[in-house]
Amino acid sequence: MSTIAAISTAPGIGGIGIIRISGENTYNVLEKIFKPKQEIDFEQVKGYSIKYGHIIEEQKIIDEVLVSFFKAPNSYTTEDLCEISSHGGTYVVGKILELCLKNGAELAEPGEFTKRAFLNGRIDLSQAEAVIDVINAKTEKESKASINQLEGNLSTEIRETRDLLMSVMVEAEVSIDYPEYDIEEITNKKTINILEQVLVKLEKLMNSFETGKIVKDGIKVALIGKPNAGKSSLLNAILKEERAIVTDIEGTTRDIIEESISVRGIPICIIDTAGIRNTNEKVEQIGIERSRKSAEEADLIIAIFDGGDNLTNEDYDIINIIKNRKCIAVLNKIDIKINEELKNKIKKQLPNINIIEISAKENIGIENIYKEIENLFKLNEIKLDNETIISNVRHKTIISNAIELTRRTIEITNQNLPIDMIAIHIKEILEEIGKITGETVSDEIIKEIFSKFCLGK
Ligand code: GDP
Repeated sequence: MSTIAAISTAPGIGGIGIIRISGENTYNVLEKIFKPKQEIDFEQVKGYSIKYGHIIEEQKIIDEVLVSFFKAPNSYTTEDLCEISSHGGTYVVGKILELCLKNGAELAEPGEFTKRAFLNGRIDLSQAEAVIDVINAKTEKESKASINQLEGNLSTEIRETRDLLMSVMVEAEVSIDYPEYDIEEITNKKTINILEQVLVKLEKLMNSFETGKIVKDGIKVALIGKPNAGKSSLLNAILKEERAIVTDIEGTTRDIIEESISVRGIPICIIDTAGIRNTNEKVEQIGIERSRKSAEEADLIIAIFDGGDNLTNEDYDIINIIKNRKCIAVLNKIDIKINEELKNKIKKQLPNINIIEISAKENIGIENIYKEIENLFKLNEIKLDNETIISNVRHKTIISNAIELTRRTIEITNQNLPIDMIAIHIKEILEEIGKITGETVSDEIIKEIFSKFCLGK
């Protein structure tokens, strides 16, 4: 494989910048641009050591740097690899990369270092995918789930499932090789037993997706209510800063505002929408459509009612939207007098939903909304310590397919079909789950996965 180079730190100005080189000719490239303070034999330098010196172009010092040496196979890519830590100026890192390219390295594609770690067998595909998730993690829980996957939790589960299936394949082969022994019936019983164990494992992974999705993508919350109910004020209270525009004029919250907060380590993305009401005004109408749509897309709806007002047609529209949805009903403005009749009417309309009384303006009762979110999504029960959780849609699809295939195989095994027929079906399951670890995945999929990486990773 060629020798590649890229800037691994984020673009912009920083304390340090890192330029990474990997491949057979790493030390040839480095030798041409790096002048260590103390003379060294580049090929003889030990892995995991750091050398101090200068990056030089035609006798001119470009920067003062530290170079970390990694020797094959003990590196991120398993190839000879070095990381040049320079000062973090845009010009300097760009210049050093340019010198690498001038002296024999090729510009790495996004994710190419990680792709090499995968192609060279140091990590499997699910671990490589975990690398992006660790980089993108915004909360502690998300990061923990990704680290678990990077450490190989999912790979182990898949390997165990594969081993179970392989044990059936071995039985099948014995049976095919020695047809004179009538062992088919016993084998079928055993096969069903093993396939049922496989099913349990796969279903457990499948069920973990709901948690995985919450941990990774968070909970999307739509904040809806008629104009002046107090949506912007509530959003402000939640964010504890004046980011949304609060005003007395109806329908000014025309654009949807999205903000993220963290509840028990889970990202909560709040969408503040324009009031839902019937109007002919064009811009308003766009806002209303968006409101309905964002309510549809949300995992949770917070419906806010003006506690001092009467229940209007607009409120009934909102009640209709939230009926049969995961939602929290909020009665706002408890600092002024609450209309008890309104409260009773809402209770009657939404008998199974907790009504939370707050004052967005005076910051009263807001924490009860968080508690209700915790209850509704059982956030307290999310424990990531020893759990394997899938959060990747690609993995979910594969596991769902594998479950289907396993069920079908159990069915045909029950019909006492010849074992070689069953073996063909088991092979299909093996191929399907092999897509998670990357053993049976197409080049296009691999390309697509790594194209989502950043440069230099
Ligand atoms: P939105 O149209 O639903 O976004 O409502 P706003 O947040 O813009 O609030 C409309 C009006 O109600 C503003 O004048 C707010 O100051 C007022 N308001 C909001 N929450 C409260 C509250 O808890 N108590 C009182 N007294 N007024 C509030």
